[in-house]
Amino acid sequence: MSCVSSLYDLAIIGAGPAGITASIYAARNKLNFIVFATSIGGQVVLSSEIENYTGFQYITGEELTAKFKEHIDRYDFELRMEEVKKVEQEDNRFMVRIDSGTYLSKTVIVATGRKPRELGVPGEMEFKNRGVSYCATCDAPLFEGLDVAVVGGGNSGLEAVLQLTKIAKRIHLIEVMPRLKADAVLVEKAQASDKVEIWTKTRVVEIFGDKTVKGVKVQRNGEETSLPVQGVFVEIGSVPNSDLVDFVEKNRWGEIIVNCRCETNVPGLFAAGDVTNVPEKQIVVAAGEGCKAALSTFRYLSKRRGL
Ligand SMILES: Cc1cc2nc3c(=O)[nH]c(=O)nc-3n(C[C@H](O)[C@H](O)[C@H](O)COP(=O)(O)OP(=O)(O)OC[C@H]3O[C@@H](n4cnc5c(N)ncnc54)[C@H](O)[C@@H]3O)c2cc1C
Repeated sequence: MSCVSSLYDLAIIGAGPAGITASIYAARNKLNFIVFATSIGGQVVLSSEIENYTGFQYITGEELTAKFKEHIDRYDFELRMEEVKKVEQEDNRFMVRIDSGTYLSKTVIVATGRKPRELGVPGEMEFKNRGVSYCATCDAPLFEGLDVAVVGGGNSGLEAVLQLTKIAKRIHLIEVMPRLKADAVLVEKAQASDKVEIWTKTRVVEIFGDKTVKGVKVQRNGEETSLPVQGVFVEIGSVPNSDLVDFVEKNRWGEIIVNCRCETNVPGLFAAGDVTNVPEKQIVVAAGEGCKAALSTFRYLSKRRGL
């Protein structure tokens, strides 16, 4: 039977840089709060090298995540490693639904970040984790000495290509547009590698294989060709994890719209980090937004209590 909790001041959803920073500020302001997350660190864990987080000239994603964890371990609060399926609103409170029950809270901070965009071609789902990957940092070592395709000519695609040049035998970089969109310095490095073949104006139409990936079918100038590869890295951007809240205003990309105080159009519902319309999806920005969201929540609750 599913249970219903007592009423919290705040429920934070997400434990990436935004959610973790919000938790630190909520704890220091002595709020009665709970955090839900499916991972600690969020996308930071996927980053191999971080050179732009203030105070660290160089740190790996794994090391920074360990530091985040060490920091929140200093505080005593409830952390549930479970996926939030839905947030709903009734009267003056929010209901946070997970599989095992419902949690009630006066306020919510949505800090659920982003996930990779899918290609949407036949074979993609079938071969997910059997040759199809959305994270070169995590999975590149599995393709040592093999031929792979990287789909997407933006910065993340080019970063994946450069990472793979140290591991794979041959890399096909596939971009649907006539030109690669990535920074010139990355494009130059890829062009300089004799392992990399660049396919512009080319669209992936299918990923095929048997137990694992054996190749991709691509279309170029109206003609179809098969490229024999054992791995496909999909690097075509990301989408916000905002489906769990359907009563808040979002922009055309599904990002939750916030003002400079991280307030949404729903009183008591705040959002922070990559799931919002705030420009520049970066760790330092998400952390700053998490701080603002927690302080705004604290002010909102004080006002509600008439303090
Ligand atoms: C490969 C890669 C490399 C990057 N490199 C850099 C870099 O060098 N420098 C830099 O500044 N930025 C970098 N970024 C971007 C940076 O990681 C993000 O901007 C930042 O992590 C966003 O933080 P966030 O807290 O908003 O979201 P996220 O980090 O995405 O965290 C989201 C959190 O929400 C949780 N969550 C999601 N949905 C649910 C749900 N339904 N229920 C419960 N929990 C949920 C997740 O488990 C996670 O804890 C990189 C990103 C990637 C993918």
